[in-house]
Amino acid sequence: MAFDYGKFVSSGFGKQLATSLGLPRPTKLRRQSPGDPLIGGAVLVDGHGDTPVSERVRVLLESEGVQVATSPSTSVAGVVIDMTQIETPADLETLRAIAGPALKTLAPTGRVIVVGRPVEEARDVAQAAARRALEGIVRSIGKEMRGGGTANTVYVAEGAESGIDATIRFFLSGRSAYVDAQVVHVGEPVGELTQPSDWDQPLADKVAVVTGAARGIGAAIAEVLARDGATVVCVDIPAAGGPLAEVANRLGGSALQLDVTAEDAGAKIVDHATSLHGGFDIVVHNAGITRDKLLVNTDADRWHSVLDVNLLSILRMNEALVSAINAGGHIVNVASIAGIAGNRGQTNYGASKAGVIGMTSSLAEELRSKGVTVNAVAPGFIETEMTAKIPLATREVGRLTNSLSQGGLPVDVAETIGWFAWDANRAVTGNTVRVCGQMLLGA
Ligand code: NAD
Repeated sequence: MAFDYGKFVSSGFGKQLATSLGLPRPTKLRRQSPGDPLIGGAVLVDGHGDTPVSERVRVLLESEGVQVATSPSTSVAGVVIDMTQIETPADLETLRAIAGPALKTLAPTGRVIVVGRPVEEARDVAQAAARRALEGIVRSIGKEMRGGGTANTVYVAEGAESGIDATIRFFLSGRSAYVDAQVVHVGEPVGELTQPSDWDQPLADKVAVVTGAARGIGAAIAEVLARDGATVVCVDIPAAGGPLAEVANRLGGSALQLDVTAEDAGAKIVDHATSLHGGFDIVVHNAGITRDKLLVNTDADRWHSVLDVNLLSILRMNEALVSAINAGGHIVNVASIAGIAGNRGQTNYGASKAGVIGMTSSLAEELRSKGVTVNAVAPGFIETEMTAKIPLATREVGRLTNSLSQGGLPVDVAETIGWFAWDANRAVTGNTVRVCGQMLLGA
């Protein structure tokens, strides 16, 4: 049986050993189930001056029946600090004065969200410095928090305040359990922001295509999108036909056996989705492979196969998918922190995933006029069949070297993808969000 560090340090002897040696003890994270409240307690909303952003957050919380706290001394489940009005680094004192006391009373699996304005839109150098400083503070708070709490930064462009609700909702909820120390940019919405009639079914009436859906993260993505109301086209290679059919049948979707590297893969997906479901609204490019070796030992075959599956196939398929996707659709790419930080033995994989991140921001601009959002997730250490095969010591290092002291679950990646696919989330495009529990590897 595989050794499970998390279980071990929760047992009597393990707990004692962990305490005496100062070893990390992971907290069970708060994950979303249908019917759950947005957050399980009051949320403190405060900031530098009173601004349209904090007012929006208050209205959102009240509409969800969440108590809005006004004093940092009240025990809270979350803290939203509005720093959009700061002028100079001296104004950062407000954040210290609010967050310091609030962190003392923050409940386990608490949430800290700091909202600022984009650095690029700063009036002068001092304001740019102050705005960028928010990230440094929030990332450090993420490392100081205990009990499965997370801290994230949201930059909202001037005039784009109406688009912030979806991101606040995501970060306060259990959907963002493993998303920590991230920076989300909220800008001018791509098309019209529309709220679902039921927040347990934000993808009702949508058709989603998910590649690599037979197992692991892809199967979890299909599951979450279906739970949230979408009909899912599950795509995977013919060799995975059995488990693929099982996933598709369980979720009431359809299965399409297809190698994503085939020249006509995009056209086949379009034909399948159009003939069976009348079109498609969401595409998740998740299929991916690794062929790890140090660069000195990486032959052309290892190089090309990884780039072909992880990057070139997406570019090829998009030629057909982009013109066929329903207006107002969403494309989400699965990158990796290896595409941000690099990884020993993964030059081919790092190239492919960094390429995915570059493609995401470029395609987002291209598809703005079509009302289609394009974003990416960059998972860290996620518990899948792939990571279960990593040797014990390396695996435990991967699991523990993050602020939440545990690996993420496929559902954590899936929830982030689901959020990118909300029509209420049209103000977030061209973003890459890591789902890594603030892994020490990388930025
Ligand atoms: P996995 O190996 O468990 O699943 C990948 C799926 O993709 C499999 O079902 C496989 O059959 C399918 N696939 C592979 N090549 C294909 C092709 N040519 N055509 C169609 N389908 C194909 O992997 P996973 O851990 O679930 O990873 C899913 C994605 O997440 C990948 O893009 C991976 O790079 C990325 N990722 C995973 C982790 C992690 O910790 N597991 C971390 C970062 C990024």
